[in-house]
Amino acid sequence: MMGRTHLIVSSGMTLSILSLTGQGITLPSAAVAIISSLLPDIDEPNSLLLQKTMPKGLLSKLKLLLVAFGVGFLAYSYYRSFYTPYSYGLGVMMIAVCIVHQRLFRQLLMASIGGLLLYIGFALSPWWLTIGALLMVCAVLPHRGLTHSMYGVLIWGGLLYVASGRLGHSFWASGVISYSLHLLCDVLTKQGIQPLPPLKWKWRVPLMSTGKFSGFLVESICISLTFFLMWTAFVSPAGAEALSLLEGFRERVNAVWARI
Ligand SMILES: [Zn+2]
Repeated sequence: MMGRTHLIVSSGMTLSILSLTGQGITLPSAAVAIISSLLPDIDEPNSLLLQKTMPKGLLSKLKLLLVAFGVGFLAYSYYRSFYTPYSYGLGVMMIAVCIVHQRLFRQLLMASIGGLLLYIGFALSPWWLTIGALLMVCAVLPHRGLTHSMYGVLIWGGLLYVASGRLGHSFWASGVISYSLHLLCDVLTKQGIQPLPPLKWKWRVPLMSTGKFSGFLVESICISLTFFLMWTAFVSPAGAEALSLLEGFRERVNAVWARI
């Protein structure tokens, strides 16, 4: 399923469910719904979230910067005898990191930023701790592995719960619902999901393939359902009226059916 479909369906349905169940929608809970709708695909190099946060151009520039820094560091270590020979090793590593494959480089970058945030998080706030831990976990994941399993839901839910503090239940609930809806949508694809790896058991209702006509059709239906739900949740009177009309129609059909 396309990234933008996940974004619309998971966040739209989550916010509607929050509204319909009487939970207040706050800015943090809306933000976490949006992030959670895309988060499971963070282990996919072409995912919307990674393309936006770590585009290829930026990665290439970072590589160049790291090479320049590595060369500078080597020269500095040589002239100032700065912790030599260990500093040489560090300088060479900085340069060597740049010749690795783009995907590995991104994983290394995510792990380093994650480590840094963990360090800051311990001193400052649980927010940074959550993001740091998450980045480190995601850096080492295979695609459609842990993020597309029940463990992913539990880990993400747990992290949000710990970080939620005064933000209330709607915050972590929003993240868990949106994340789970993403997985539910992926169940509709040919690959399906493996809820409890390493068990080979799969949840799969292969209605569509991403990029094919079946994908377009199923994604369009999911988006339409989302808009209907949002309409019911946020344009309440009209939505309620439509629901009661549908209910009335169903009752009439049942009555006719009973007479036959
Ligand atoms: Zn996915």
